[in-house]
Amino acid sequence: MNEQIGELNPPDRLMLTPGPSSIHPRVYRAMSSKMVGHNDPWFVSMVMNEVQVLLRQVFRTENRITFPISAAGSGGIEAAMVNPLEEGDEALICVNGTFSQRMADIAERARARVTPVSAPYGRAVDPEDVRRAGKGKKVKIVGVTHGESSTTVASPIEEYRKVADELGAILVVDCVSTLAGMPVDVDGTPIDICFSGTQKALGAPPGLSPITVGARAEEILRSRKTKVQSWYFDLTTTMNYWGKERTYHHTPGIPLIYAFREALRMVMEEGLEASWERHRSNHHAFIAGIEAIGLKPFVTDPARRMMTVTAIEIPEGIDGKKLQKQMLDEFDIEIAGGLGPLKGKIWRVGIMGYTSQRKNVLLVLAALEKALSDQGFRVPAGAGVAAAIRFFSETRAATAVK
Ligand SMILES: *Cc1c(COP(=O)(O)O)cnc(C)c1O
Repeated sequence: MNEQIGELNPPDRLMLTPGPSSIHPRVYRAMSSKMVGHNDPWFVSMVMNEVQVLLRQVFRTENRITFPISAAGSGGIEAAMVNPLEEGDEALICVNGTFSQRMADIAERARARVTPVSAPYGRAVDPEDVRRAGKGKKVKIVGVTHGESSTTVASPIEEYRKVADELGAILVVDCVSTLAGMPVDVDGTPIDICFSGTQKALGAPPGLSPITVGARAEEILRSRKTKVQSWYFDLTTTMNYWGKERTYHHTPGIPLIYAFREALRMVMEEGLEASWERHRSNHHAFIAGIEAIGLKPFVTDPARRMMTVTAIEIPEGIDGKKLQKQMLDEFDIEIAGGLGPLKGKIWRVGIMGYTSQRKNVLLVLAALEKALSDQGFRVPAGAGVAAAIRFFSETRAATAVK
């Protein structure tokens, strides 16, 4: 017995990061339910079906291929790239941050001919640039990241859909940080391949990447000349387990699927539109608060801001890391810094899923004010909280998370 290693006792954090976000007690309870085997009749005929029914509702799709991949969100990017792409295929990838860059990198590793269509960090890629980049090429996929959470830019999916149609390409969309927090309509748009992550606005633990594949993309997968290089991420064989046959492919994280089922149930209990509205309202209250404090949102165009994660410019003379540490030590609140070229330049605050609640907006604004004024930043006392209160008073009550 090792005396130094005691029972696990995690601190009680409020996770206001771009993921993972804190999860609801109902989701914890579901996760600690009794294990069964991945071939158990109850699991394969009940739980898996229910997860797929709910997931189709959240994606707004009737796609046959709709299931959670056993992987983090990045596994969703991987699957969405390696399945449709074969050596030499043309891929146009919109790159405006870390995660869209990751998509381009993975497409390149799949030996596609990748044309990155870039925008400066903090902006969405101009659909006209995508159109121009595709001229005269036989483009197979247009890839875009809906909520680029490294910069907190939201891209207008419908506009890339139009361009993909003109180019005869399929549209692949990363909705890891937006599904359930911002409008996503897989069949309505339509999006040919769409994937997400469970630990963001869906309010479940990390470890699953839900994906859905439309008929046109499925046809591309079935008519491949070569096998998908990755055995684990081959969607057509994984579908043997999540499809009618339910034949063994790999052992999924059963407790994660329990948790995800409960999180999906909660999204549909509230209603998708109500969930989008709750995120929208709390985002606007937070923006009102930080602006009243004298902070600037990194994304200057309000129409391009994500409703789930907000990047804030770190003001001159403020130590960003030190502030994050104080938020954690003094208030048990975790916020994130910038990634890559934005390291040290921005903070990122995720208010999504279970954490998208009025009380958290007020709490994080108060904590920010305290930590900023401790570093000598002149904040009119209570200004951020007051602005958020004003916003809430003028807005009809947002749906409460029970
Ligand atoms: C978080 C995130 C990912 C990566 O998810 P992981 O679970 O960390 O692999 C991918 N894309 C976007 C847009 C994200 O926000």
